[in-house]
Amino acid sequence: MIQLTNLRTKVAVAHGDGIGPEIMLATRKILEAAGAPIDWVSVEMGEQVYLSGQSAGIDPNAWNLMREAGVLLKAPMTTPLGEGYKSLNVTLRKSLGLFANVRPTQAYHPYVSTHFPNLDVVVVRENEEDLYAGIEHQQTEDVVQCLKLITRPGCEKIVKYAFEYARLNGRKKVTCMTKSNIMKLTDGLFAKVFKEIAPEYPDIQSEHMIIDIGTARLATEPENFDVIVTTNLYGDILSDVVSQIAGSVGLAGSANIGQEFAMFEAIHGSAPDIAGQGIANPSGLLHASILMLRHLGFAATAERIHEAWLATLEAGIHTADIYQPEISQSKVGTQEFAEAVIARLPRVLPQNGSNQPTNTNSPKIEVPTYTRQKQQKTLVGVDVFIDWKGTDPKIIGQALQLLAGPRLKLKMITNRGVKVFPNGLPETFCTDHWRCRFVSAEADLSQKEPDYPILHYGESLELMHKLYAHNWEVIKTENLYTFDGKRGFSLGQGE
Ligand code: NAD
Repeated sequence: MIQLTNLRTKVAVAHGDGIGPEIMLATRKILEAAGAPIDWVSVEMGEQVYLSGQSAGIDPNAWNLMREAGVLLKAPMTTPLGEGYKSLNVTLRKSLGLFANVRPTQAYHPYVSTHFPNLDVVVVRENEEDLYAGIEHQQTEDVVQCLKLITRPGCEKIVKYAFEYARLNGRKKVTCMTKSNIMKLTDGLFAKVFKEIAPEYPDIQSEHMIIDIGTARLATEPENFDVIVTTNLYGDILSDVVSQIAGSVGLAGSANIGQEFAMFEAIHGSAPDIAGQGIANPSGLLHASILMLRHLGFAATAERIHEAWLATLEAGIHTADIYQPEISQSKVGTQEFAEAVIARLPRVLPQNGSNQPTNTNSPKIEVPTYTRQKQQKTLVGVDVFIDWKGTDPKIIGQALQLLAGPRLKLKMITNRGVKVFPNGLPETFCTDHWRCRFVSAEADLSQKEPDYPILHYGESLELMHKLYAHNWEVIKTENLYTFDGKRGFSLGQGE
């Protein structure tokens, strides 16, 4: 029997929907039997809270309870079907500043069938930015947009976190994946920050891969990867690819880490199809709680539980989802599985004979201080987006050329990013969404990269007035800036 010390930690717990309460019960039983010194504080979130009229699915009282505890163990939740319900996970991540999503995945061959018995990969995914900023607009009848926002502090935090994680967990390599060859400013910034920070960790190998070939390699030779760091959307996809090829979608847990708060959960959903039958596998939530124990500093307890879990798997005691007649010994339900894990908890006490925090495996993140020099930001032009139902680019181009002078001139028009005026190709398909680039009339447009003379915002406003007076429907504008003389905007395809 483990001796408890006085040092106890509060953890907020959300019991979830569907199979949530069953797997949470099993998980807590195991943690309690292992002597994890946790005081659980229940918080309400999920389906019933949504249906009671809270569009975020989180009871307003939960916030203070969670903040006080600093840690949340969360069972899967059901998002009700229909409009108007916001993703609870996205709300938690953004509201609590959970910038890193960490998903370690290991193969458990032969107990869990996989082609890659040596797979052992950690995906560190940026969790707050990118296309998940959720800024979307319909701009014309035919065109909708989603803003991809990448910030330098966001990149610095996640890249630093990935290297710290690698170092603290004895990992050898960090691979960064982006599409910086196409999105030169957004993904380019992520890749650039990775290149800047990597030399601070000479003990860890670093490499950058373009996301498409990187994903293909990961899916076919995962044993060549160790820690992967990437942006939000790619990370979302990659972490599912890794779990799938490890055969462990039902087994994996993930950590969502912020400066002040951390949330742990299984990666699967609430499995309404098997809810209430007592057959769900609690391993995903158990793995989440193992990550949580490490985060709290109870690394030895975490290891004991993991060992007992492995021993249960090795003894052929399997839930229905991983049952294989050739190697399984018995098919058990959720609570029986938990009892089998408890029966296999190593009797040996943790090294220091107590459950006091040993060395923690969770990185103490040093967020870099931003000491960059202030840059000279200069307005050099404006992209005006116009809703126009015509089809011939020459008509809109020539009309706008006439309106542009004397301080501004039309440099080009693109449609879906492809230059259609001047000198577009007749084959290019055009929608009702025209991006019209205006720059200073003094710019020498015979140059591919002209030296753009400075512009004043008033000049751009004057242009807007003229466009309005001539019935051109401006959907939005984007100012064009240089930073320390370097172009801060992409060129059009063919510009
Ligand atoms: P799901 O992960 O709940 O289920 C997919 C399949 O896997 C089902 O056949 C299910 O029975 C099985 N499965 C999942 N977990 C299992 C377990 N522990 N043991 C045995 N079998 C398991 O995905 P879904 O059906 O697409 O989603 C159901 C609900 O869960 C939806 O409302 C969705 O919004 C929600 N969801 C929540 C989270 C979360 O809270 N983090 C994540 C994903 C989905």
